[in-house]
Amino acid sequence: MEKFVILGKNLKQMEDFMIDNSQSKFRAKQLYNWVYLNSVSDIDLMSNLPLQTREMLKEKAVLTTISVKDKQVSKDSTIKYLFEMGDGSYSEAVLMRFDNRSNLTACISTQVGCPMNCAFCATAKLGFKRNLTCDEIIQQIFLIQSDMSVKVTNIVFMGQGEPLLNLDNLLSSIKIFREQFQIGSRRITVSTCGIIPAINKLAEMDFQSTLAVSLHAPNQEIRKSIMPVALKYPFDDLLSALKSYTEKTSRRVTIEYVLMKGINDSVNNAKDLAYAISKLKCNVNLIVYNQNDKSNFKKADKISVQKFKYILEASGKKVTIRLERGADIDAACGQLSSKFSNKKV
Ligand code: SAH
Repeated sequence: MEKFVILGKNLKQMEDFMIDNSQSKFRAKQLYNWVYLNSVSDIDLMSNLPLQTREMLKEKAVLTTISVKDKQVSKDSTIKYLFEMGDGSYSEAVLMRFDNRSNLTACISTQVGCPMNCAFCATAKLGFKRNLTCDEIIQQIFLIQSDMSVKVTNIVFMGQGEPLLNLDNLLSSIKIFREQFQIGSRRITVSTCGIIPAINKLAEMDFQSTLAVSLHAPNQEIRKSIMPVALKYPFDDLLSALKSYTEKTSRRVTIEYVLMKGINDSVNNAKDLAYAISKLKCNVNLIVYNQNDKSNFKKADKISVQKFKYILEASGKKVTIRLERGADIDAACGQLSSKFSNKKV
């Protein structure tokens, strides 16, 4: 018989499980607290549960279906986790602390590999294997919390995969993060390469997390040369979808823009971008390209980055430059490509 997966279940589901297995209902609340308040990953450490309850749990249930296969720590103390799924595939997540902030941000994956094939991204080279289940998505946060004995305060869906192509599981996981893990919607950011129908759906449901969009180009021509998704969902259509998204949700979107030398980092590119997004309620997050040996793209010079920032700021946008984290362990943006290869099925 399939085992009951504890992680992700709400109190009612845990109560039903306890009752079905001849336990007192209140044991569920104790289990719930061990899991969600204390991130305890060993049933034997749940000391207020009687031995007989723990034995039942070990026989009939599992806490998680994924496990930490490998862990690397960067010089800047960023940590990259490699998770192994029940079917033997791998996925990655990254834990970051930003200086002067108490926030602890986890960057998690929604798919094994990625189908979007962006020319500059190392994850793309893995190809796509499958969507992560909702359980697998949330277990990443549980295992990080349990491993580090910390509470994650912010989540960014910026790991492997395209979150909006796994929309149902994404939304279910956000609900569990909110209700069980007590991580509020506003502390969650979902990054997409621009899947328009899904953006429209989020607009309809009044999505309360932050939507970040990997735009990376000031126009359709450049975008389609580096991001195949633009062939299906063109630049202008994407901007219109974002505009109606901001109107419907009254939420600002974040425009992500990776600066690559000679590709999208010129003064004219900055002016074109400023014009293209002038009517969009957004902030801009500039990302310095992380070079990797799997592609020939180069990072923009420091001076181009500053010019780019000034031009966008002069147009009235709030602009931040994303701090590079964990580059020495390949944990930075676009570097997640498991060293254990995911064999394609
Ligand atoms: N598929 C989603 C989620 C991935 S988030 C999306 O496209 O938004 C990862 C971010 O890192 C994306 O903005 C991606 O375009 C960017 N990225 C990819 N390769 C990069 C690299 N080498 N350096 C910096 N950013 C990169």
